[in-house]
Amino acid sequence: MAENRKSADGKISKRELKKQMSRRAAFLFLLFIFAFVALFVRLWDIIQTDGESFRQKVLSQAIQREGDSYIESKRGEIMDRNGIVLAGTRRVYKLIFDAKLIHSLSDADKKNKTLTLLAEHNVRTQAELEKILQEKKEYNYIVLEQEMSYQDFKEIKEAIDSYQVSGLFYEEHNKREYPYPVLAPELIGFVKGDNTGEGGIEEYYNDMLIGETGRKYGILNSKSIAADREVAAVDGYQIMLNIDYSIQKYITDAMNDYLKEHHPKSVTIIVADPRSMEILGLKSYPGFSLDSPYEIEDLERPDDVEMVEKSIVEIITQRKKKILADRTVEFEAEKRRLEEDKKAKEEAAQTAGTPLSAEEKAKLEKALQELEAKRPKLEDVSDGEVIDEQERASIRQNLLLQNRWKNIALTNGYEPGSIFKAITYAIGCEENKIAPDNRYYCSGGLQRANYFINCHKLSGHGYQTAEQGLTNSCNVVFMELGANIGRDLFYEYQRKFGFGSLTGVDLAGETSQRKNIYAKKDLNEVQLATSSFGQGFNVTPIQMITAFSALINGGYLYEPHIVQKVFDTDGNLFEVKDRTLIRQVISEQSSVKIRHALRSVVDEGTGKTAKIAGYEIGGKTATSEKQPRGNGKYTVSFMGFAPVENPEVITLVIVDEPEGAYQDSRIPALIFRNCMEKIMPYLHIFKAEATEAEK
Ligand SMILES: [Zn+2]
Repeated sequence: MAENRKSADGKISKRELKKQMSRRAAFLFLLFIFAFVALFVRLWDIIQTDGESFRQKVLSQAIQREGDSYIESKRGEIMDRNGIVLAGTRRVYKLIFDAKLIHSLSDADKKNKTLTLLAEHNVRTQAELEKILQEKKEYNYIVLEQEMSYQDFKEIKEAIDSYQVSGLFYEEHNKREYPYPVLAPELIGFVKGDNTGEGGIEEYYNDMLIGETGRKYGILNSKSIAADREVAAVDGYQIMLNIDYSIQKYITDAMNDYLKEHHPKSVTIIVADPRSMEILGLKSYPGFSLDSPYEIEDLERPDDVEMVEKSIVEIITQRKKKILADRTVEFEAEKRRLEEDKKAKEEAAQTAGTPLSAEEKAKLEKALQELEAKRPKLEDVSDGEVIDEQERASIRQNLLLQNRWKNIALTNGYEPGSIFKAITYAIGCEENKIAPDNRYYCSGGLQRANYFINCHKLSGHGYQTAEQGLTNSCNVVFMELGANIGRDLFYEYQRKFGFGSLTGVDLAGETSQRKNIYAKKDLNEVQLATSSFGQGFNVTPIQMITAFSALINGGYLYEPHIVQKVFDTDGNLFEVKDRTLIRQVISEQSSVKIRHALRSVVDEGTGKTAKIAGYEIGGKTATSEKQPRGNGKYTVSFMGFAPVENPEVITLVIVDEPEGAYQDSRIPALIFRNCMEKIMPYLHIFKAEATEAEK
């Protein structure tokens, strides 16, 4: 009875379990033998009837598995605001020749078919292929073409896919292409060998652009024939920028015009819509080409080399310090051991009642002294212990490249100089620190604590209103105004305008310059005075244009952004990047006042060079002597916008270390004018009045 098999608590007895298991094992064994025989018969059948095609497939898979069995996703395009492709992806084909297989073919027709196909498509001549066959008869992975276009490869692909030819197979790859490789390299970025973005949009939006890799793998299908299975790749999203190809071209041309005859250290131009902080154009010099980012002709510019060498010394010192720390640990352990030894001997002698002799004491003391003389020192660690020539050269090259690829509009801290006076002026307006009847007297400078701080006009500007002070770019007026505003308010506004913070721009590598603006507690009389006219602290170009836009757009600080829209794999709109208000910094009324004051700077003040007949333009110049002062190195810049009443475009031009006699803020004002003469008509910003010539 079935019940008998179970014990009282309903469980199967051990003996019965053993019996069942051995029965099962026997059954499984028989099944296994049967399956094995069936498989063997089937394999024999395949080898007999379908040998070559089977062999080809298995081989092809084995090779693919050895190499890359993943299917690359297509990286999404990057377009300008009008759909012009700035970064695209093209499918290319790697054509591989299997000499070993062709050799093994018994059918001469099959071999000839392959060779003829290749010769017809100008891959190789028949003779060349015969030579390869002779010389590489043992090879089954000979790359004939690395990057065939679809156009050139189409017919070969069809022949391979339909098994019309033997001994040929291919791999598909996606190749990133930049139709305008020098137009905006640091803005676009590029793609490294592992398909990740380096710099710019390619890095910042890598996750969206990259898509998902697919997979190809072999299985045995129902007829036990090897077949390919595919998990398709998902293509990356497409990104549409706020950048306008034409504006980018205009600023590139204006920059190149200047560079034809001049050799500054760097130039930066940013064009934005101040109503939203959409970045319309962004360009810096020196650049590189997206076609060959690793091969840069003038990579070893003296200043860059000097900076990189300093970094290498820093790296070496850090490594040496680490070695020193390890050695010091060992040293201290040895020292402790000697001290304990000495102590133990003294105690033992004490206990025994026979104190150590003077000689023995001296010996123990000497051992300690000798050890102390060997205390590890940093200078005893040699360069060779921490770095070899090869590594040094590789670090050097890498740092030089990184330095060139970075986007200086986001990373380079510079003293804003007199352009910052517009901000101090706005704070004064907003906080009612400027009365209409305010008069400031400039005698050529001002005493602050122990320093006499000069105005750029050493003979003095005499009596001026705050607005005249801005037009004349008088330092004294702004030192006085800064003092009226006071340390707390000044610092508060500096932070409100975004200085010392990341702007949040959607590009890789931005720096905040946080440590380069004075902390409130350090903003003493002298620092407050110099900060008020834009010296003594650093900003980045992107911070400066973002803050300045808030000055003129009614007081609204927006987050600068490069990307406008994102489209998904199927081309559907996925995301729209609207303007993002960070905060309102000043009132509409103060903004109106500052716009009018900045117009007089261009109409009758230091910014006259930027004037374009018929247009209403506001702007501000800046010339700042670089640290350390007295070396004759300057940064000159110009910030301008139009139209004055309702600004639609703002442009910042910075020239770092222009040569010799040209250290003049008229240089960037001139570049600004060259840009704006093209940009304003392009943006349908019209002249407010007809010029003399037009009348
Ligand atoms: Zn002055």
